[in-house]
Amino acid sequence: MRVVQNPAKLQTALARLKRQDKKIGFVPTMGYLHEGHLSLVRLARKENDVVVASIFVNPLQFGPREDFKRYPRDFPRDARLLKKEKADFLLAPAAEEFYPKDFQTEVKVTRLSGRLCGASRPAHFAGVCTVVLKLLNIVKPDRLYLGQKDYQQVEVIGQMVKDLGFSVMIRMAPIVREPDGLAMSSRNVLLSKKEREEAPCLHRALCEGARLVKRGVRDAGGLQKPMREILKRAASARVDYLEIVDVRTLRPVVKLKKGQKALLTGAVFFKKTRLIDNELVRV
Ligand code: AMP
Repeated sequence: MRVVQNPAKLQTALARLKRQDKKIGFVPTMGYLHEGHLSLVRLARKENDVVVASIFVNPLQFGPREDFKRYPRDFPRDARLLKKEKADFLLAPAAEEFYPKDFQTEVKVTRLSGRLCGASRPAHFAGVCTVVLKLLNIVKPDRLYLGQKDYQQVEVIGQMVKDLGFSVMIRMAPIVREPDGLAMSSRNVLLSKKEREEAPCLHRALCEGARLVKRGVRDAGGLQKPMREILKRAASARVDYLEIVDVRTLRPVVKLKKGQKALLTGAVFFKKTRLIDNELVRV
């Protein structure tokens, strides 16, 4: 695996491979890798000739009072893990070079970015889109690998790619979980012992919602109430949002219709640490 800091160097190396008609799979991350990230790398490895991963803790997608500084980092360990998964390139740009002082461009997907996580993190998705478009322009992959854990991110990036006519296939991989159901996240290490014990309540609440849908409950209120009850029992949990939304528009669904695909999704603060999770359901 080649570790590259300079985007132009990566482009030169990839241009040669593209001329040989090699297919490129790209896995963007913020590092502090876990099995969720590695599942994306494995899928990319299976489906492409060349695998590029990136590690960049993107300052643009953090709000001023969010955890950019606290965000966990361990580059040597990440590089080892990616090498073990047989990634071909690891792009790890330096923030000052990636965003020089005169950087002033922002890419924004308007409607989708305002919902769910976007409601409490107003600049988040513009930061995500800006970095992802910049990375896509460097790597120009055939396939882009994203996790369902950040479902809204997948939809927002999908919209951006479609609107701007960027030709890349988006592949969404399932959520990888800890044995107790907690969705793997780099942020899980920021939880205290008690918060970590309580954190699986988010997944439990979403599973309860999915179970009720299967049992015939159709109205959002009737689903949300028992889900919130589960979260209430966790003393350290404070709900940011808990919603049942349409899978494409991400708008709240009042009553589920037959055949409808919906997303049960939530964000919960455990003291300072905000975790997200979701379950896809089909009525
Ligand atoms: P991050 O480093 O948190 O920005 O995540 C990088 C990519 O890994 C994103 O596409 C995430 O959706 C994906 N990802 C993060 N956690 C998981 C997980 N538990 N299971 C599957 N994919 C994940």
